[in-house]
Amino acid sequence: MMNTPIAVDGQLLADWRPIPATAAFESIVPPSARLRRLATGTAWSEGPVWLPSEAALLWSDIPNDRVLRWSPTGGVAEFLAPARFQNGHTLGLDGELLACSHGERRIERLYPTGGWSSVVDRYRGVRLNSPNDLVVKSDGTIWFTDPPYGIDSDLEGHKADSEIGDCLVFRYDPAAETLDAVTDLMDQPNGIAFSPDETVLYVSDTSAARDPAGNHHIVAFDVIDGRSLANPRVFYVAEPGLADGFRVDEHGNVFTSAADGIHVVDADGTLLGRIPVPEVASNCAFGGEDGKRLFITASTSLYAIDVAVRGAVRDRP
Ligand code: MG
Repeated sequence: MMNTPIAVDGQLLADWRPIPATAAFESIVPPSARLRRLATGTAWSEGPVWLPSEAALLWSDIPNDRVLRWSPTGGVAEFLAPARFQNGHTLGLDGELLACSHGERRIERLYPTGGWSSVVDRYRGVRLNSPNDLVVKSDGTIWFTDPPYGIDSDLEGHKADSEIGDCLVFRYDPAAETLDAVTDLMDQPNGIAFSPDETVLYVSDTSAARDPAGNHHIVAFDVIDGRSLANPRVFYVAEPGLADGFRVDEHGNVFTSAADGIHVVDADGTLLGRIPVPEVASNCAFGGEDGKRLFITASTSLYAIDVAVRGAVRDRP
């Protein structure tokens, strides 16, 4: 696919206002908050991560096989191209950048000296499907989802058969170098995040992306002894669209993508309100100088809105 130019935008979308569903929403997303489009021109935006050390945001433009970088002072630039079809990004405990690579079918990390190398790419001797999104727990373990979206066509990776024959959620322990499947309940697991105290793991199932009768919900699991999952229950059904990716704020509210923008859901699964976005949203990430800027990746653009809360995970360098 030909790379299309990225336009630095910065346009304030004054008519796109937060829509409360409950009174509690005001203290999370102020009524005065307005959406701003920071950049536009991607084919499909996903995988946002804020880099505190650089005061910059990275995100993926998967079909164009590139990772882009936005900063308030530097505008937009290509960070990595080709990008081996990277999707989700996150930071490890030491601030190292970790990515899900559809193209390499692995979790990979960027070394400070430059260059990416594999963290984990096989389960019981066979290749992963195409890791989609990931999160690092406070004990350093990496939890990630492995749906087929990077191998079911050449659009976001390389078409290939699943060697595992299933779509699992994994826990990788870098110290022990062990990879364990923590659930096989999801048809097509996608977004993943912990509650602030890490006693609950949220995983979305987006099988409706390929099958209208499929799932478009988030499942909550209890985390047992910090390493296994129990008591799965449907936490929230994204409507319209999919809960492709999401983040949890410092109070335990879930900010999830949907076709009409970001839905803010409390820890009981109650919709508190919505942040409408003019394109199909895929994911979001907290960042900015004070940690209270919500960056939203949505189809052809990157958006941001200033909220009143920070992300649950924020003390990484
Ligand atoms: Mg995703």
